[in-house]
This record gives sequence, structure tokens and C-alpha cells, in this order.
Amino acid sequence: MKIVVLNHKMNLNYEEIKKYIKALENYKDKVVIMPSSIYAGKFIDNNYKTGLQNIYCEDKGMFTGEISPMQAKSLGIKYVLIGHSERRNIFKEDDELINKKVKSALKNNLKVILCIGDNLNENINEALLKQITNDLKYINEDVIIAYEPVYAIGTGQVPSVQDIEKRITYIKSLVNTKVLYGGSINSNNIKELNKISNLDGYLIGSSSLDIEEVIKILEVVV
Ligand code: PEP
Repeated sequence: MKIVVLNHKMNLNYEEIKKYIKALENYKDKVVIMPSSIYAGKFIDNNYKTGLQNIYCEDKGMFTGEISPMQAKSLGIKYVLIGHSERRNIFKEDDELINKKVKSALKNNLKVILCIGDNLNENINEALLKQITNDLKYINEDVIIAYEPVYAIGTGQVPSVQDIEKRITYIKSLVNTKVLYGGSINSNNIKELNKISNLDGYLIGSSSLDIEEVIKILEVVV
């Protein structure tokens, strides 16, 4: 079964979250929800597979505003997204910090989804190799990888199926793991994307906020 991860980013208020939880009741086994962290407990209480969009690299201490993998684990969080391009670009997270976060999450038995991706005008394979090498330094455990070309996130600009397939093959030649694709997935392009034979799932941002979109996508994928 393909993994479908719904990344809410910093969206939805509490009333909308309550509606969301009810509306996806029949689909909860088919998705991993990554809500704003303040709503994670609510999803867990309703038996959703729940992840966090970010995590810190220490278990506890004087790190105001951060959430630790140990805390996440104790709440019932199963997955954690690390290295999303918004974290890399807006919050200036570098490969060294990302590497520490991955190690710390794995130590707490969380399933890590490491986001990697190329910018326009750079050598794609070089960019992916650099991120994989640095982010997974000294790590032997399984880590799921999400391939998200940065220019495809939230823009509607999706690479061709052939190009995505090529990148997935390359990533799998470097790391023997599951690879997801993310970037402007919606109910119109999911049929085409679902033809990619070596893909293990999807990471969905903007479309994950619209329940009808989510259901249409799941009907194609699952
Ligand atoms: C994302 O942020 O991980 C993402 C894939 O966003 P979108 O679907 O909006 O491009």
C-alpha cells in the first residue's frame, strides 16, 4: 500500500480540525496526518496515524518553543518530517542540524521522512547526493525519503512522470528505502503521477487542506 502523507503546514483552526477529523473517518487507515503540532494529540485520540512536521534534536532541556522526539514518542506520534524545504529555506536549517534531528528521532523509534529536493538551475543528482550524504551521515537505520523538487512545492509546476521516475531510481540507487514524491499534487494530476512504478507514496501539502481533494486523491491511489 502506498504511503500518503498529508502535510497541513501552518493551516486550519481548531473548528476546521474537528470537521477534518470527522470527514476523514473512513480514510484514517490510508493516511498519515501531519497537522500543526498543537492538534497532534487530537488526531491521535481519534486513532489517526499522526506525524509532526518538524522536531528538535534533543530529548529535553532549555529549548523554548521546541518539541522533542522523546515527547513526540510519548504522545503516540509515529512519523516525523525532517528537512522540509521550508525548514531549510525559511528557518535556515542546515544539513548538520538535519543530521542530528534524524539521529535523535531514530533513537526514539520514530519513523523519519527526510525531505530532499533540488532547486531550479542546479545539477539535480549532485544536489540530491549532497543532501543524502550529509543528512544521513553515520546513519544505518531505515529512513523514508520524500523527493520534493523545491520549485514544485505550492506552485503547480510538476516535473514530468519520466523525470520523477528517473530521480526516484537515482535516490534508490543511493539508499535502499521507500521514496515518496511531493510537490503540487492534486486530484487532476494524481492519475498521471500514480503511473510512476517505483514510487512508494506521496507527500501532499496544499491539497491536503481540502477534504474533497484528499478523498479524490485517495480514490486514485489506494
Ligand atoms: C509540501 O510542502 O511538502 C508539499 C508537497 O506542498 P504542496 O503539495 O502544496 O506543493
